Amino acid sequence: MNPPDAGSNFDKVSGTLQFDRDAALKFIGVRAFIMSASTIADVMDDFYLVLGEKFVDARLYLGGKRAGKRTAAALASANKIDIADKTALEKFYADFYAALGWGKLDFELDYANHAGAVIAHNSFLAQGALAKFTARGAATKIQDAKLQPRCAMLAGYIAGLVSFLFDAEVDARESACIAQNHPACRFEISRRL
Ligand SMILES: [Zn+2]
Repeated sequence: MNPPDAGSNFDKVSGTLQFDRDAALKFIGVRAFIMSASTIADVMDDFYLVLGEKFVDARLYLGGKRAGKRTAAALASANKIDIADKTALEKFYADFYAALGWGKLDFELDYANHAGAVIAHNSFLAQGALAKFTARGAATKIQDAKLQPRCAMLAGYIAGLVSFLFDAEVDARESACIAQNHPACRFEISRRL
């Protein structure tokens, strides 16, 4: 039995997953599909190789931020959460993205100064980069992990969520990534320059 309220949003969100024998899988009513984190990382490796790290990360960050802002507002409205209740919003976002399998977000925000940090545990972008498929199809941990942060899209998304929480434009910079052998991914929040 969970303590009161703990995980209630998580159960509500994860319970919307609908498998479909004709392949039209849906999550929160949205057509979705399942892909391994390693496959995403493999695609990302090719993007980095062909287009360059700066371009790819900038594009993912900007797209993520737009989506994060839009989704933050939509989730608050659809779930009737008072946008002045920051604790309730933070908890909902943490449960929602945990249910999606994107990462478990811990908000350590300084609302007075529009600063702080967000910690992401189990980022799918970074964990995918830490494993590769073998010829037999098993995902195994690799030793030659890249020493660059891998979570630009998540950084943008977090910047969008936190901009909505603060009702002010902020950016997020990934200062530590599990792809660099840190225990969690950390995103520093600062006012937009
Ligand atoms: Zn990361």
